[in-house]
Amino acid sequence: MITIDGSFGEGGGQILRTSLALSLVTGKPFRIENIRAGRKTPGLLRQHLTAVNAAAAIGQAEVEGAAIGSRAVTFKPDSVKSGDYAFAVGTAGSTTLVLQTVLPALLTAEGPSTLTLEGGTHNPFAPPFDFLVRSFLPLINRMGPRVTAELERPGFYPAGGGKFSVTIEPAPALERLDLLTRGDLVARRAKAMVANLPRNVAARELAVIGKKMSWPSEWLTVEAVDNSHGPGNVVTIEIESRNVTEIFTGFGERGVRAEAVAEQAVQEARRYLKGDAAAGEYLADQLIAPMAIGGGGSFTTSKLSRHATTNIEVIHKFLEARIAAEQASDRVWRVEVEPS
Ligand code: ATP
Repeated sequence: MITIDGSFGEGGGQILRTSLALSLVTGKPFRIENIRAGRKTPGLLRQHLTAVNAAAAIGQAEVEGAAIGSRAVTFKPDSVKSGDYAFAVGTAGSTTLVLQTVLPALLTAEGPSTLTLEGGTHNPFAPPFDFLVRSFLPLINRMGPRVTAELERPGFYPAGGGKFSVTIEPAPALERLDLLTRGDLVARRAKAMVANLPRNVAARELAVIGKKMSWPSEWLTVEAVDNSHGPGNVVTIEIESRNVTEIFTGFGERGVRAEAVAEQAVQEARRYLKGDAAAGEYLADQLIAPMAIGGGGSFTTSKLSRHATTNIEVIHKFLEARIAAEQASDRVWRVEVEPS
């Protein structure tokens, strides 16, 4: 059985999620110890436990250690079963990270699936729903499957209660994806979402973006949501190029001024626009596993994060894939993934 030390590299929940995802895809069982040893609250939190349970349901797996606070899990999958599933985190924990865990296996499953996920949809340190839909899923769809997601209700910390559904029409295998250049700039937009908060918060954020990016007001949209379980605010800057769309997010927080929330997204977007790499830091760490389980691929990125290198190490535990990363220039890394 494959054994994984959850404390290596970044020592976070990603080691667990990537292990579960690859175990489902390869059918290889694994045991992980020292789960999230690098974090302040080690062991399984609700989000991670939901990911374990979701993976167990889809992979009809035998599992030991699936409990809150658990620092070791043994996971023995059977075959992947497509179908209709509902997974609720039960807190404001990230639903998109639960999806990240089970999606790879369903992309090439025998039949279509629909997933309904409940919890947080716009969490700091996780892919926000808009990133999933605008940036990540279009690239997955270029590999062959057809995945769509629809937001019913956003969920923010601490109230949670967000909900979205995902429909997956699988492909027989994932095709190679090459993303070495962005291509021409197609569109730029920003959206400020406010849930149970004054519209003025969103207007202030967009004013900062309009001014700092020198963007006209037609590119800026306020989205006021009234069905969220609690208050929340998120600002999204979208850079759409011919080959890839990147999303930069500022997360509203109690005690943080709207201007500072917008500034967070502006800085990331500016950094991206200054460079030439196709994928930003987050997209980069999320593309490697789908490429490794499928037909391989390549991409350029501005920065290969510790998160990405940790992910690569986990991938090597399950797959023979060759993953090479080299710095091509000052702000461009080139990553090549050759499947086994
Ligand atoms: P934990 O141990 O608390 O579960 P972790 O180490 O597993 O944390 P993070 O490092 O927080 O998780 O990252 C989780 C994932 O979320 C990564 O795949 C990262 O690319 C993605 N992510 C984080 N922030 C963003 C963002 N702003 N936009 C898109 N993706 C993001």
